[in-house]
Amino acid sequence: MSERIVILGGGESGTGAAVLARRSGLYGNNIFISDSGKIKDKYKEVISAHAIEYEENGHSSEKILNASEVIKSPGIPEESTLIRSLKDNGIPVISDIEFAGRFTRAKKICITGSNGKTTTTLLIYHIMKRAGCKVSIAGNVGKSFAMAVAENYEDDPDYYVLEISSFQLDNMYSFKADIAILMNITPDHLDRYHHKFQDYIDSKFRILQNQTNNDLFIYCADDKVITGEMNKLQPVSRLVPFSLTDQFTEGAFVKDNAIVIKYNNQIFSMIIDELSLKGQHNVYNSMAAASTACALNIRKETIRECLTDFQGVEHRLEPVLQIHGIMFINDSKATNINSTWYALESMKTKVIWIVGGIDKGNDYAMLSDLVRQKVKAIVCLGVDNSRIHEAFDGMGITIADTKSMKEAVRSSYYLAKNGDTVLLSPACASFDLFENYEDRGKQFKLYVREL
Ligand code: ADP
Repeated sequence: MSERIVILGGGESGTGAAVLARRSGLYGNNIFISDSGKIKDKYKEVISAHAIEYEENGHSSEKILNASEVIKSPGIPEESTLIRSLKDNGIPVISDIEFAGRFTRAKKICITGSNGKTTTTLLIYHIMKRAGCKVSIAGNVGKSFAMAVAENYEDDPDYYVLEISSFQLDNMYSFKADIAILMNITPDHLDRYHHKFQDYIDSKFRILQNQTNNDLFIYCADDKVITGEMNKLQPVSRLVPFSLTDQFTEGAFVKDNAIVIKYNNQIFSMIIDELSLKGQHNVYNSMAAASTACALNIRKETIRECLTDFQGVEHRLEPVLQIHGIMFINDSKATNINSTWYALESMKTKVIWIVGGIDKGNDYAMLSDLVRQKVKAIVCLGVDNSRIHEAFDGMGITIADTKSMKEAVRSSYYLAKNGDTVLLSPACASFDLFENYEDRGKQFKLYVREL
């Protein structure tokens, strides 16, 4: 009798895991997907095409508690009753990344952090592809890792570039990143970490688990949370730090307006103005990607070319349109304070700032200085804007409340003058008024174009 694998959540990662389980032939018909909500039609089609048993709109515990192992979608909280009873029954709960890692021999380049994951992941993939590497991209960007491994089952790539969230890291145990990249750690998702920052930090540092001194750890040395934790943990990995302020014998840094990467006695350097991605945060992202490329021995010409021609990613400081001298920028992906900090920091004009949504425990005081310097008016866009008012009411800045994107775009247009920028950088999740951050960004662009 084969082992029974149960997959909780029939979304991108769950469906991928089920297809991979089927493909592996290890579980026979003992594969079951259970989703507490409705499974989207596009995933149901895939599930049915592989003749996998599933249920939706609720969990039947008798079909779950007999599992040998459970793969949990990242969206399901560790604290849910079902996960607790699985743990009480001694049933291992893993993430789809842990599962998929068992079925590939490819080297894994894994990117995590609070912000900059997607941008850095795509940038690394862009360089590796151009360099002719046999590489696939997966994880939180595009396909799930499990689905990618299932699709490449007969023809394993040499590398996977994987964006990995903290929720996925939480349920990873044997998996090892050959190159681990940690962009930064700032408070985010604290609602899922018992409001304890340390728990979230511990989760991010799982990116280092199982690494040996042959594996690389590329990390931001300007991030005090990261360096503090490293002092405690003393990782054995080969360390490749990147920084805007320090210099290293091995690592990436800034000197005379250029990024410099020193690795294996080789030096790569490139003027910051030539980087296609602008802003301080993108210097970090570019340094992380270039360090990875240097470690992989990719030609300097290729790295330079790719850092120059990389097209930005939708919803990340994406310029939309200029109307009567007012620039509209879509940074809908800024779902926490830190990413909005970098957005405001990179603004060169006065800003009408559209902010709000579901607040994950934001400390708005961290933005006060930048708001004072750059923000002319605040347009709140959320069901509950009280915390934004509390933080900024006393500053003598106009604050408007809106309840739809159409209203927010119109109010900001009304408040802006020639030479200003309207910046959607919400610092919050989007689920109160929108389906997700993409929907929020798309609506922004739609109503801007209608002005
Ligand atoms: P993630 O995948 O980690 O959410 P993204 O690349 O999608 O990261 O960017 C998310 C948001 O954070 C965007 O608003 C972007 O402009 C901003 N951002 C990108 N890179 C960084 C960084 N290194 N530090 C801080 N903010 C960043």
